Amino acid sequence: MTLKNKKILITAAGQGIGAASARACAAAGAQVFATDLNGDLLANLAGIDGIETRVLDVTDAEAITSLAAELPDLDGLFNCAGVVHHGSILDLDDAAWDFSVNLNVTSMVRMCRAFVPGLLRRSKSQGTASILNMASMASSEKGFVERTAYGATKAAVIGLTKAIAADFVAQNLRCNALCPGTVDTPALQGRIASAPDPVQAEKDFIARQPMGRLSTVDDLTPTIVHLLSDNSSFMTGQSVLVDGGCTI
Ligand code: NAD
Repeated sequence: MTLKNKKILITAAGQGIGAASARACAAAGAQVFATDLNGDLLANLAGIDGIETRVLDVTDAEAITSLAAELPDLDGLFNCAGVVHHGSILDLDDAAWDFSVNLNVTSMVRMCRAFVPGLLRRSKSQGTASILNMASMASSEKGFVERTAYGATKAAVIGLTKAIAADFVAQNLRCNALCPGTVDTPALQGRIASAPDPVQAEKDFIARQPMGRLSTVDDLTPTIVHLLSDNSSFMTGQSVLVDGGCTI
């Protein structure tokens, strides 16, 4: 199995892409620590072989350091948590900007800082370890309307990823960023439902995907497993687009 003997922590694993990733990594043989802000959502993963759950708010610096002290050294860290702010720069007040920076970027800085020492111990003893940071095609890869805070913070995730990759490349700790297209998750369904015209909003999301359909979480999980596994051991510092051709 691709992830046999790997200990992998995933943030925002209560639903959507994070939950699908927890299931896929466990199915590939990993011991998964599935974390989320919402303990009720984590209950859906209870009893799955290879998955342990922990409540973790990634904006809580102290909770991150205590979890890093509690858990064994990791082979893989998937920083999946993030939030979409809808709006142009004219809709972006300081509070919304700070919230996006804190959840989309600062949380990943803190997670990496807390877990990199253990990941380095594993890369030394096992020959490799891997960090995967959730970015988006809406980032430095491509601009989208009404995505100022989102695009800027996801671009920062790509920069953070490349910097970490550069610092630790010689120690075989790899770091890559994932850039999905538009993925059918509870978050996306929430954005559609809260639009003034939800039917049109769904059509618009599909229309921006040249394949004429939304991504499913299952379109992403093989790449997520690959990037956390030794099959990608010569890949680092990359921004990996799985976007159905949006950025062709
Ligand atoms: P989702 O809403 O379906 O799931 C998000 C999860 O994050 C929820 O379980 C929620 O409880 C958890 N969460 C929220 N705040 C948290 C916090 N402070 N600490 C820990 N957990 C927290 O979202 P999704 O669509 O699966 O998105 C997951 C990631 O993928 C995000 O970073 C998002 O930006 C990125 N992404 C999503 C899409 C898309 O179209 N859905 C596209 C590209 C990138």
